[in-house]
Amino acid sequence: MEWSGRLDVKKGSALNADPASQARLLDLQALDSSLDRLAHRRRTLPELATIESLAARLREVGDALVVAQTLESDLAREQSKAEADVDQVRVRAERDQQRLDAGSVSSPRELENLQSEIASLAKRRSDLEDVVLEVMERREAAQGDVSALSAERDKLAVEAAGAEARRDEVFAEIDAEVSATSAARGAVVTEIPADLLALYEKIRASSDGVGAAALHRGRCEGCHLALNPGDLGHIRDAAPDAVLRCEECRRILVRTPESGL
Ligand SMILES: [Zn+2]
Repeated sequence: MEWSGRLDVKKGSALNADPASQARLLDLQALDSSLDRLAHRRRTLPELATIESLAARLREVGDALVVAQTLESDLAREQSKAEADVDQVRVRAERDQQRLDAGSVSSPRELENLQSEIASLAKRRSDLEDVVLEVMERREAAQGDVSALSAERDKLAVEAAGAEARRDEVFAEIDAEVSATSAARGAVVTEIPADLLALYEKIRASSDGVGAAALHRGRCEGCHLALNPGDLGHIRDAAPDAVLRCEECRRILVRTPESGL
Protein backbone atom coordinates (compact mmCIF):
# COMPACT_ATOMS: atom_id res chain seq x y z
CA MET A 1 0.00 0.00 0.00
CA GLU A 2 1.15 3.52 -0.67
CA TRP A 3 0.03 5.28 2.44
CA SER A 4 2.49 4.91 5.27
CA GLY A 5 1.34 7.40 7.87
CA ARG A 6 2.06 6.66 11.51
CA LEU A 7 -1.62 6.01 12.24
CA ASP A 8 -1.44 2.80 10.29
CA VAL A 9 2.03 1.42 10.71
CA LYS A 10 2.50 1.96 14.42
CA LYS A 11 3.06 -1.27 16.39
CA GLY A 12 2.98 -3.23 13.15
CA SER A 13 -0.75 -3.70 13.16
CA ALA A 14 -1.25 -2.69 9.55
CA LEU A 15 -4.35 -4.33 8.21
CA ASN A 16 -6.60 -3.88 5.25
CA ALA A 17 -10.31 -4.49 5.14
CA ASP A 18 -12.93 -3.20 2.76
CA PRO A 19 -14.86 -0.16 4.05
CA ALA A 20 -18.11 -2.18 4.32
CA SER A 21 -16.44 -4.66 6.69
CA GLN A 22 -15.04 -1.78 8.71
CA ALA A 23 -18.51 -0.28 8.95
CA ARG A 24 -19.84 -3.64 10.17
CA LEU A 25 -17.24 -3.44 12.93
CA LEU A 26 -19.17 -0.46 14.33
CA ASP A 27 -22.36 -2.54 14.27
CA LEU A 28 -20.51 -5.30 16.10
CA GLN A 29 -19.24 -2.79 18.65
CA ALA A 30 -22.76 -1.53 19.28
CA LEU A 31 -23.99 -5.09 19.86
CA ASP A 32 -21.04 -5.96 22.11
CA SER A 33 -21.60 -2.79 24.13
CA SER A 34 -25.26 -3.78 24.50
CA LEU A 35 -24.22 -7.23 25.70
CA ASP A 36 -21.79 -5.65 28.19
CA ARG A 37 -24.52 -3.34 29.48
CA LEU A 38 -26.92 -6.29 29.85
CA ALA A 39 -24.29 -8.34 31.72
CA HIS A 40 -23.57 -5.36 33.97
CA ARG A 41 -27.27 -4.87 34.65
CA ARG A 42 -27.65 -8.58 35.46
CA ARG A 43 -24.73 -8.40 37.93
CA THR A 44 -25.88 -5.18 39.62
CA LEU A 45 -29.65 -5.63 39.91
CA PRO A 46 -30.90 -3.90 43.09
CA GLU A 47 -32.85 -7.08 43.85
CA LEU A 48 -29.55 -8.96 44.31
CA ALA A 49 -28.49 -6.65 47.16
CA THR A 50 -31.99 -6.90 48.65
CA ILE A 51 -31.90 -10.70 48.49
CA GLU A 52 -28.45 -10.75 50.08
CA SER A 53 -29.44 -8.48 52.98
CA LEU A 54 -32.67 -10.42 53.53
CA ALA A 55 -30.69 -13.68 53.62
CA ALA A 56 -28.33 -12.17 56.21
CA ARG A 57 -31.27 -11.02 58.37
CA LEU A 58 -32.93 -14.43 57.97
CA ARG A 59 -29.78 -16.11 59.28
CA GLU A 60 -29.66 -13.74 62.27
CA VAL A 61 -33.34 -14.22 63.11
CA GLY A 62 -33.02 -17.99 62.60
CA ASP A 63 -30.09 -18.14 65.04
CA ALA A 64 -31.96 -16.02 67.61
CA LEU A 65 -35.01 -18.26 67.19
CA VAL A 66 -32.97 -21.40 67.95
CA VAL A 67 -31.62 -19.71 71.11
CA ALA A 68 -35.15 -18.68 72.21
CA GLN A 69 -36.59 -22.15 71.48
CA THR A 70 -33.79 -23.80 73.44
CA LEU A 71 -34.38 -21.49 76.40
CA GLU A 72 -38.14 -22.12 76.23
CA SER A 73 -37.71 -25.90 76.29
CA ASP A 74 -35.15 -25.65 79.12
CA LEU A 75 -37.69 -23.61 81.11
CA ALA A 76 -40.46 -26.11 80.29
CA ARG A 77 -38.31 -28.84 81.85
CA GLU A 78 -37.50 -26.61 84.83
CA GLN A 79 -41.22 -25.92 85.33
CA SER A 80 -42.11 -29.65 85.27
CA LYS A 81 -39.41 -30.37 87.82
CA ALA A 82 -40.55 -27.53 90.11
CA GLU A 83 -44.18 -28.73 89.83
CA ALA A 84 -43.08 -32.28 90.70
CA ASP A 85 -41.27 -30.89 93.77
CA VAL A 86 -44.49 -29.13 94.85
CA ASP A 87 -46.46 -32.37 94.37
CA GLN A 88 -44.00 -34.33 96.42
CA VAL A 89 -44.25 -31.90 99.34
CA ARG A 90 -48.06 -31.74 99.03
CA VAL A 91 -48.39 -35.55 99.14
CA ARG A 92 -46.18 -35.74 102.20
CA ALA A 93 -48.06 -32.96 103.99
CA GLU A 94 -51.41 -34.64 103.21
CA ARG A 95 -50.16 -37.93 104.59
CA ASP A 96 -48.99 -36.22 107.79
CA GLN A 97 -52.29 -34.39 108.09
CA GLN A 98 -54.19 -37.71 107.71
CA ARG A 99 -52.12 -39.25 110.48
CA LEU A 100 -52.86 -36.26 112.66
CA ASP A 101 -56.61 -36.30 111.87
CA ALA A 102 -56.85 -40.05 112.47
CA GLY A 103 -55.70 -39.46 116.04
CA SER A 104 -53.35 -42.45 115.78
CA VAL A 105 -50.41 -40.51 117.22
CA SER A 106 -50.64 -40.47 120.97
CA SER A 107 -47.15 -39.64 122.17
CA PRO A 108 -46.98 -35.86 122.83
CA ARG A 109 -43.43 -35.68 121.49
CA GLU A 110 -44.36 -37.52 118.33
CA LEU A 111 -47.41 -35.26 117.97
CA GLU A 112 -45.26 -32.18 118.31
CA ASN A 113 -42.82 -33.51 115.68
CA LEU A 114 -45.67 -34.19 113.30
CA GLN A 115 -47.17 -30.71 113.73
CA SER A 116 -43.76 -29.13 113.28
CA GLU A 117 -43.19 -31.13 110.08
CA ILE A 118 -46.59 -30.10 108.70
CA ALA A 119 -45.71 -26.44 109.34
CA SER A 120 -42.32 -26.71 107.70
CA LEU A 121 -43.82 -28.58 104.73
CA ALA A 122 -46.34 -25.76 104.27
CA LYS A 123 -43.51 -23.23 104.22
CA ARG A 124 -41.51 -25.40 101.82
CA ARG A 125 -44.54 -25.82 99.56
CA SER A 126 -45.10 -22.06 99.45
CA ASP A 127 -41.42 -21.49 98.52
CA LEU A 128 -41.60 -24.15 95.78
CA GLU A 129 -44.82 -22.62 94.40
CA ASP A 130 -42.99 -19.29 94.17
CA VAL A 131 -40.29 -21.05 92.14
CA VAL A 132 -42.95 -22.49 89.80
CA LEU A 133 -44.47 -19.04 89.28
CA GLU A 134 -41.09 -17.47 88.63
CA VAL A 135 -40.18 -20.16 86.06
CA MET A 136 -43.61 -19.82 84.40
CA GLU A 137 -43.08 -16.06 84.01
CA ARG A 138 -39.68 -16.59 82.41
CA ARG A 139 -41.11 -19.30 80.18
CA GLU A 140 -43.93 -16.98 79.04
CA ALA A 141 -41.35 -14.34 78.11
CA ALA A 142 -39.38 -16.96 76.17
CA GLN A 143 -42.55 -18.12 74.40
CA GLY A 144 -43.21 -14.47 73.46
CA ASP A 145 -39.71 -14.25 71.96
CA VAL A 146 -40.25 -17.50 70.03
CA SER A 147 -43.54 -16.18 68.59
CA ALA A 148 -42.10 -12.79 67.66
CA LEU A 149 -39.00 -14.31 66.06
CA SER A 150 -41.07 -16.91 64.16
CA ALA A 151 -43.30 -14.14 62.81
CA GLU A 152 -40.25 -12.08 61.85
CA ARG A 153 -38.68 -15.07 60.10
CA ASP A 154 -41.90 -15.78 58.16
CA LYS A 155 -42.18 -12.14 57.11
CA LEU A 156 -38.56 -12.07 55.93
CA ALA A 157 -39.06 -15.34 54.03
CA VAL A 158 -42.04 -13.84 52.18
CA GLU A 159 -40.03 -10.71 51.38
CA ALA A 160 -37.11 -12.83 50.13
CA ALA A 161 -39.40 -14.90 47.93
CA GLY A 162 -40.84 -11.68 46.46
CA ALA A 163 -37.38 -10.27 45.75
CA GLU A 164 -36.31 -13.56 44.17
CA ALA A 165 -39.39 -13.58 41.96
CA ARG A 166 -38.66 -10.00 40.82
CA ARG A 167 -35.03 -10.93 40.19
CA ASP A 168 -36.04 -13.94 38.11
CA GLU A 169 -38.47 -11.81 36.13
CA VAL A 170 -35.79 -9.27 35.27
CA PHE A 171 -33.26 -12.04 34.61
CA ALA A 172 -35.68 -13.56 32.10
CA GLU A 173 -36.07 -10.18 30.35
CA ILE A 174 -32.31 -9.64 30.26
CA ASP A 175 -31.63 -13.18 29.07
CA ALA A 176 -34.15 -12.80 26.23
CA GLU A 177 -32.42 -9.58 25.19
CA VAL A 178 -29.02 -11.26 25.44
CA SER A 179 -30.24 -14.09 23.18
CA ALA A 180 -31.58 -11.70 20.55
CA THR A 181 -28.45 -9.54 20.68
CA SER A 182 -26.15 -12.57 20.51
CA ALA A 183 -28.03 -13.85 17.48
CA ALA A 184 -27.61 -10.48 15.75
CA ARG A 185 -23.94 -10.49 16.71
CA GLY A 186 -23.49 -13.95 15.19
CA ALA A 187 -24.81 -12.65 11.89
CA VAL A 188 -22.61 -9.52 11.89
CA VAL A 189 -19.46 -11.44 12.78
CA THR A 190 -19.68 -13.48 9.55
CA GLU A 191 -19.24 -10.25 7.58
CA ILE A 192 -15.97 -9.28 9.24
CA PRO A 193 -12.62 -10.75 8.17
CA ALA A 194 -10.91 -12.94 10.78
CA ASP A 195 -7.78 -10.78 11.16
CA LEU A 196 -9.81 -7.59 11.66
CA LEU A 197 -12.09 -9.38 14.13
CA ALA A 198 -9.09 -10.70 16.08
CA LEU A 199 -7.58 -7.21 16.30
CA TYR A 200 -10.92 -5.80 17.44
CA GLU A 201 -11.31 -8.45 20.15
CA LYS A 202 -7.76 -7.90 21.38
CA ILE A 203 -8.23 -4.13 21.70
CA ARG A 204 -11.70 -4.53 23.20
CA ALA A 205 -10.32 -6.78 25.94
CA SER A 206 -7.84 -4.14 27.06
CA SER A 207 -9.79 -0.94 26.35
CA ASP A 208 -12.96 -0.97 28.47
CA GLY A 209 -14.87 -3.11 26.01
CA VAL A 210 -14.48 -0.73 23.10
CA GLY A 211 -12.34 -2.07 20.25
CA ALA A 212 -13.61 0.05 17.38
CA ALA A 213 -14.87 3.61 17.26
CA ALA A 214 -16.19 5.90 14.59
CA LEU A 215 -14.30 8.97 13.53
CA HIS A 216 -17.02 11.57 13.94
CA ARG A 217 -16.46 15.20 12.95
CA GLY A 218 -12.75 14.88 13.50
CA ARG A 219 -13.17 13.25 16.89
CA CYS A 220 -12.49 9.66 17.96
CA GLU A 221 -15.67 8.32 19.53
CA GLY A 222 -13.61 5.85 21.55
CA CYS A 223 -11.60 8.34 23.60
CA HIS A 224 -13.63 11.42 22.57
CA LEU A 225 -10.52 13.36 21.71
CA ALA A 226 -10.28 15.55 18.61
CA LEU A 227 -7.60 14.45 16.18
CA ASN A 228 -4.99 17.02 15.27
CA PRO A 229 -4.96 18.41 11.73
CA GLY A 230 -1.85 16.41 10.87
CA ASP A 231 -3.46 13.07 11.78
CA LEU A 232 -6.66 14.06 10.01
CA GLY A 233 -4.58 14.83 6.93
CA HIS A 234 -3.01 11.36 7.05
CA ILE A 235 -6.45 9.80 7.38
CA ARG A 236 -7.73 11.82 4.45
CA ASP A 237 -4.87 10.48 2.35
CA ALA A 238 -5.23 6.89 3.54
CA ALA A 239 -6.58 4.20 1.23
CA PRO A 240 -10.26 3.44 1.92
CA ASP A 241 -9.44 -0.15 2.91
CA ALA A 242 -6.63 0.78 5.30
CA VAL A 243 -7.53 -0.12 8.88
CA LEU A 244 -6.74 2.93 10.97
CA ARG A 245 -5.99 3.25 14.67
CA CYS A 246 -6.57 6.22 16.94
CA GLU A 247 -3.26 7.77 17.97
CA GLU A 248 -4.58 8.44 21.48
CA CYS A 249 -6.47 5.31 22.48
CA ARG A 250 -5.18 2.86 19.82
CA ARG A 251 -8.70 1.74 19.02
CA ILE A 252 -9.67 0.89 15.46
CA LEU A 253 -10.88 4.14 13.94
CA VAL A 254 -13.63 3.68 11.37
CA ARG A 255 -14.38 6.35 8.81
CA THR A 256 -18.01 7.23 8.16
CA PRO A 257 -19.73 9.88 5.99
CA GLU A 258 -19.81 12.06 9.14
CA SER A 259 -16.11 11.81 9.84
CA GLY A 260 -15.48 15.40 8.81
CA LEU A 261 -12.67 14.57 6.40
ZN1 LIG B 1 -9.40 7.39 20.41
